[in-house]
Amino acid sequence: IKQNPAEPEFHQAVREVLESIKVVVDANEEKFRRDGLLERLVNPERQIKFRVPWVDDKGNVQVNTGYRVQFNSAIGPYKGGLRLHPSVNLGIIKFLGFEQIFKNSLTGLPIGGGKGGSDFDPKGKSDREVMAFCQAFMTELCKYIGADTDVPAGDIGTGAREIGYMFGQYKKIRGLFEGVLTGKGLSYGGSLARTEATGYGLLYLTEELLKTHGQDIAGKTVVVSGAGNVAIYAIQKAQQLGAKVVTCSDSTGWVYDPDGIDVAALKEIKEVKRERLTEYKKYRPNSEYHEGKGVWRIKCDVALPCATQNELDIEDALTLVENGVTAVCEGANMPTTEEATKYFQKNGVLFVPGKAANAGGVATSALEMSQNSERLSWTFDEVDAKLKNIMVNLFHNIDDAAKKYGFEGNYVVGANIAGFEKVLDAMNAQGIV
Ligand code: NDP
Repeated sequence: IKQNPAEPEFHQAVREVLESIKVVVDANEEKFRRDGLLERLVNPERQIKFRVPWVDDKGNVQVNTGYRVQFNSAIGPYKGGLRLHPSVNLGIIKFLGFEQIFKNSLTGLPIGGGKGGSDFDPKGKSDREVMAFCQAFMTELCKYIGADTDVPAGDIGTGAREIGYMFGQYKKIRGLFEGVLTGKGLSYGGSLARTEATGYGLLYLTEELLKTHGQDIAGKTVVVSGAGNVAIYAIQKAQQLGAKVVTCSDSTGWVYDPDGIDVAALKEIKEVKRERLTEYKKYRPNSEYHEGKGVWRIKCDVALPCATQNELDIEDALTLVENGVTAVCEGANMPTTEEATKYFQKNGVLFVPGKAANAGGVATSALEMSQNSERLSWTFDEVDAKLKNIMVNLFHNIDDAAKKYGFEGNYVVGANIAGFEKVLDAMNAQGIV
């Protein structure tokens, strides 16, 4: 904390991991101390911060800050998304990069941990302005990334449009058509099912979690927050599996639709028209729109936070438990506060952290890298089947790790230990680097 002040989200993420892996560290205390393993784990291999100047539609120069934190490459090239949101700062990118190390390890695929982004806000910008920003951002970032070194992807505010502009600029400057970014469009190397992967993967894992505890997702009432990439496809897959999803939200308000969210309407509003959720009522007159935050007040069996960090606090957890929630699986990264997480666990709620529950996105990004390397495209069903297999295995790995160390049912500990063990093994094998 002394070395990295004013980075509360990073401290929160590190604290959670270190608490979970204490049992492993205690068993090998001498080796950890001698080899500085924890110090190396929590210090990024490299963090890059750069100026991003671009020209807006009025002809004025705007200056944003760009970041790329290359956290850990022990098990593969750095891999992790680019977040474009005004709240972005170094601490946020570091928390996301740190989480990414363990998440990527849990997928079982050879990818290291990294994350990047900028405080640029794509909301309300013209297409030309977004392109100007993306080109300026990539003009600097392209010096540090590559198909075998660091492969960024999308995240909040970075969708197919932004990835396209960034890929074009990378290719122009570096003269390389390579799989340097994932989440690409299908016409230039993208993978089928990547758009759906995080949301679908979240539901494959949730289904397996419930099944393991003798429950069926079909017939359950589900509350989702967010209305972006993760939320939309989580809602779609939940409905395909027979659950009823009654909410979604954005940063200004939320929707309650007692008949179940209309995914086609949501996609039209968010993906095509890029509008706000206030428009939803026009498609579904029976629904309600409320300003501010409130989805966690709705009675449900399963809660899936899919918007952003620390969006579900202790007050929300109290309400959810009082209303009888049985499972909470994180679609977003660290959406549940530490206090709320502990409250769920104390009250017998099945809780799966984002680094496990939302790993389907990065897993499918790694499948996109494989397809790019062999210059082939797999079918939707092929990718989707691999994704499902990865999520089901991932769940059983974290379940087994929790049991092995005497924390049965604690999927936070299970995910952190299972993710950590592989990274630790690779770091040990590669010496002091
Ligand atoms: P999008 O930008 O597509 O959507 C984000 C959604 O969350 C939007 O509805 C947005 O509302 C809302 N939101 C964002 N910031 C806030 C905030 N500060 N307060 C309230 N609501 C907010 O992003 P994604 O769906 O891709 O990402 C959502 C979460 O999932 C993030 O935590 C991300 O890191 C994580 N994630 C994403 C993966 C992916 O493959 N996309 C993979 C793994 C994790 P508004 O439109 O008003 O901004």
